[in-house]
Amino acid sequence: MIDTGTIYLDNAGTTPVDPQVIESIIPFLGSRFGNASSLHSLGQDARKALEDSRESVSKILNCRLSEIVFTSGGTESDNIAIKGLAAGVKAVNGSNHIITTKIEHHAVLHACEQLEKVGYLVTYLSVDKHGLIDLNELENAINDNTSLVSVMLANNEIGTIQPIREISDVIKKCSEKLGRKIFFHTDAVQGAGILDLDVGKLGVDLMSLSGHKFHGPKGVGLLFIRRGTPIEPLIVGGGQERERRSGTSNVAGVVGFTTALFIAERDRVKNVDLCLKLRDKLMHGILDSIDNAFLNGHPTLRLPGNVNISFKGIEGEIILLGLDMAGVCASSGSACSSGSLDPSHVLLAIGLNDEIARSSIRFTFGKYNSIAEIERVIDILTELIPRLRSMPYLQ
Ligand code: PLP
Repeated sequence: MIDTGTIYLDNAGTTPVDPQVIESIIPFLGSRFGNASSLHSLGQDARKALEDSRESVSKILNCRLSEIVFTSGGTESDNIAIKGLAAGVKAVNGSNHIITTKIEHHAVLHACEQLEKVGYLVTYLSVDKHGLIDLNELENAINDNTSLVSVMLANNEIGTIQPIREISDVIKKCSEKLGRKIFFHTDAVQGAGILDLDVGKLGVDLMSLSGHKFHGPKGVGLLFIRRGTPIEPLIVGGGQERERRSGTSNVAGVVGFTTALFIAERDRVKNVDLCLKLRDKLMHGILDSIDNAFLNGHPTLRLPGNVNISFKGIEGEIILLGLDMAGVCASSGSACSSGSLDPSHVLLAIGLNDEIARSSIRFTFGKYNSIAEIERVIDILTELIPRLRSMPYLQ
């Protein structure tokens, strides 16, 4: 990995691209530049790379080749899953009720809000103080008008992992009672390279992934769409990706995505083990040595690479600046909403008040982090936090 001279603890925001991934992409930006829809040999070379990628990915997800749609990333995948499915099912049987949670990424929440504006009904499930949904609340929310349930695999801010298989079982039971299929989408963007992505085991009909969260390139992602799932395309044109997502195929991006996913899956156990060590070291290092610091999210059912802490009495942005000056990159809440003064919707949903929510910092690890870096960060924080708290004009 390229040395940035920083300690990079914002891997949920994005990850450094693996050098092997860069190597795999370069030919497709150079001599293998063909358009995968062209009939000549250069086009067919690109087509083969695209379809070989689809095959590799389908093995990891344990699905059919035809069930994979390459997209521009997690945001687009979530939008197709929510709006494309909603429109597809409505056209078939008129159902217009969607269930999701209050702690989804904005790609899901804002897609649902758009649907509400045009007459769909959306139920936003609450979560407990650790960020877990209640399966009884889900079951009670399902009605004979429900077309889709969307629950993320793991939360990008607090790292809480939802019981996706159990959620799928509840949905299946309700579907059987209704005599009609209710579809299940999971945003698995934060789970790749850490959790099992076998769509059969998870029991999902739709699943979103994004390349840049597992050491692949930005601007490329994937949506798994189980065979028989009705989807209205959001982007129409040349009919690529079996009419489900038009646009000239991003062959270089897809090859990079696939290389990254292959490496992430191959090294999953090793990386999880490393992240667990880093997480526990940082968590205990902070909680044992800094007063009024609280862990957000589930104590055990959380991503191995996520530590989210509220440092009572100091704005997260101020801490971030202090950390940045000391050479540490972290994040307050989700990167997509940083710069906004609104406290994170996820932290509010788990019951934090505005002040504690605003004082939270998210540290997220990856395969390039080390124990020595974590020790350094603990030293920096144990000096920085009391110093910031002693500055009255910051209170
Ligand atoms: N879903 C989750 C859970 C995410 O964390 C993110 C990115 O932060 C996205 C969706 C959006 O993915 P992308 O950046 O590829 O659009």
